[in-house]
Amino acid sequence: MPLGPDTVGRKLLWSIALPGLVVALVGMGHFWREARVAVQDATQVESLALAEFVASTFTLPQAPGAAKAHEAVTEVLRSDTRLFRSVEDARVLTPDGIIRLSRQPNEVGQRHAEAERLMAPGPEAARSVGGVTEVVRPLGGPECGSCHSEEDVPGASVLQMRVAEPALHQQLTDMFRGALGAMVLFIVLLALLTALALHFNLTRPLRRLSVAMGRAEAGDLLVRADARGTDELARLGAAFNQMLARLTAMKAEEIDTHRDLEVVKEKLVLKEALEVRLRELSLLFDVARSLNATLELDELLEAITRLVVERLQIPDFSIMLLNVEGLLEVKHAWPEGRGTEGLTFALGEGACGRAAEMLKAVYLPDLADRTSVFARRGLVEGALDTGALLAVPMVHMGTLLGVMNFQRPEVASFSAEEIELLTAVADLAATAVKNARLHAETVKLTMTDPLTGVPNRRHLFQRMELELARAQRFGMPLALLMVDVDHFKRLNDVAGHRVGDETLRHVCDVLRVRVRKVDTLARYGGEEFVLLLPQATKEDAVEVAEKLRRAVADNVSLTQPGLPGSHVTVSVGVAHYPTDANTQEELVDCADAALYCSKRTGRNRTTPYEPGMEMHPGRERGPHAPAADAPTVPTNTTPGGVAKA
Ligand code: GH3
Ligand code: MG
Ligand code: MG
Repeated sequence: MPLGPDTVGRKLLWSIALPGLVVALVGMGHFWREARVAVQDATQVESLALAEFVASTFTLPQAPGAAKAHEAVTEVLRSDTRLFRSVEDARVLTPDGIIRLSRQPNEVGQRHAEAERLMAPGPEAARSVGGVTEVVRPLGGPECGSCHSEEDVPGASVLQMRVAEPALHQQLTDMFRGALGAMVLFIVLLALLTALALHFNLTRPLRRLSVAMGRAEAGDLLVRADARGTDELARLGAAFNQMLARLTAMKAEEIDTHRDLEVVKEKLVLKEALEVRLRELSLLFDVARSLNATLELDELLEAITRLVVERLQIPDFSIMLLNVEGLLEVKHAWPEGRGTEGLTFALGEGACGRAAEMLKAVYLPDLADRTSVFARRGLVEGALDTGALLAVPMVHMGTLLGVMNFQRPEVASFSAEEIELLTAVADLAATAVKNARLHAETVKLTMTDPLTGVPNRRHLFQRMELELARAQRFGMPLALLMVDVDHFKRLNDVAGHRVGDETLRHVCDVLRVRVRKVDTLARYGGEEFVLLLPQATKEDAVEVAEKLRRAVADNVSLTQPGLPGSHVTVSVGVAHYPTDANTQEELVDCADAALYCSKRTGRNRTTPYEPGMEMHPGRERGPHAPAADAPTVPTNTTPGGVAKA
């Protein structure tokens, strides 16, 4: 099929060939009708003329005895000559409708079947019916009387002639039929040729163009249309190719742009990741800086809490440290005032306990999920019931120090990156806590006497400064007791330094348990101790000094072989603010002078300071130098009492 269904060629063919065929057929029909009418008219005229001629033979004047003219004519009509071969019937009817003359002899004398129509009066007329032209003409009259009697021919007769369609008509019909056939053949041929021309010149190129367009539409931009030739289709193909070339260029540009965009996107993602990292690093830096800003544990825990709440935007937080009993103890919590401080959790108990046990962060994204393997007690009491909880252990050099609990009210609100960050924060916090503890231990060491465990001289002077400042500010009294072990040198010499140390510890323990919490007991140096008694009158202080002196004398003794039952005694000097002195130095000097007085007056006694004591001549040899009349190692508890200068 050169032209497929629903093609432009087919549409063109139908829109041209069909109207052409119709117009040709209509035109042919029209001309055929015109020719037919012309032939009919000519036949009618001819028939009328013939009828006139035949009728005229009936009216020709006749010579008497001569053969009748019409008889010659009727004879010719009756005969089968070529002269009237087109005349099918020629009848003469008498007024009563009887056929008097006919080309068929057997009709003569019979009544005509259409006698009424034929005998009806009317003018001469010709009419064509079924390819036969009929002429009916009145015939006869007075002229007939010359040959026929009244009886023979009664009145006017009628001549009926039926003339067959002439051969011209048949030829015309044949010619038109031939012309019609030729025309149909011509149209078919024309249609065929047109179809072929349309197929090769229009449909096929259009189909190719359409296929190329389809492939281009499907994404094949390398396809090209046929652009050979100079006609419109070739130009269309060229234009399409040009358009495709531009599209290809645009597509290439788009691919490049897309690639660039991808690169930019990747860079953007990288930049965002870097920014996040930078923020995290900056945060960690800030955390490290502020955690290193203090070595005080309480301040540090407060700083950690502030950082977590403000910088990390975590509204619910608690920090737990491992206490001496090996339990996690809540040291600081936010929001404050929920009474959570002091709560303890065993290792393995709840989320924090699990984190401490595994030394790994434990994340509960949804606290409402009761199927969690962690017990509910893992949450700090008073914390949110819903939301997400992250427990991160604080580990320093592989040692657990505590756990940090982070909580948000939103479910699954901690991202993996944030968990990583908070783990780093917990590591930093662990280091800071460790440093703070080391610092506290160092401070304690520098402030504590290693032999007796009581504050040393440095701590004593710090404390004294504080207590004196407080006493001066609030107008309160402050007493200072200086206690010295009697004949300690000799004790060392006799019993040895190890026993001397033991004795010192023992004396210290006896003193320590007998003073108030607000009092400060410190080792002043050697075998000397100092006691600070805030808010004590001088009388109170003397009383306390006596109590302590007696306690030592009653409780500390030497078990050294050779020295059975030897009691260790102390001498005490008492100074008082504001009674005796106003500064630290004065206070110490006064107590020292009073102590010297105790030594000088026999030892194992208490002496409250009195003005002038520091001027005693024996003191030039140095503080607490043994007096010349010093007794030997005391062998029993001598009742001392309060000495007077
Ligand atoms: P007095 O009754 O006058 O106080 O005589 P004393 O011997 O106690 O006083 P002295 O100042 O003459 O001697 C003090 C001695 O204490 C000298 C020193 O060897 C001894 N001593 C100082 N510190 C320590 C110590 O930490 N351990 C021991 N075992 N002895 C110490
Ligand atoms: Mg002494
Ligand atoms: Mg001494």
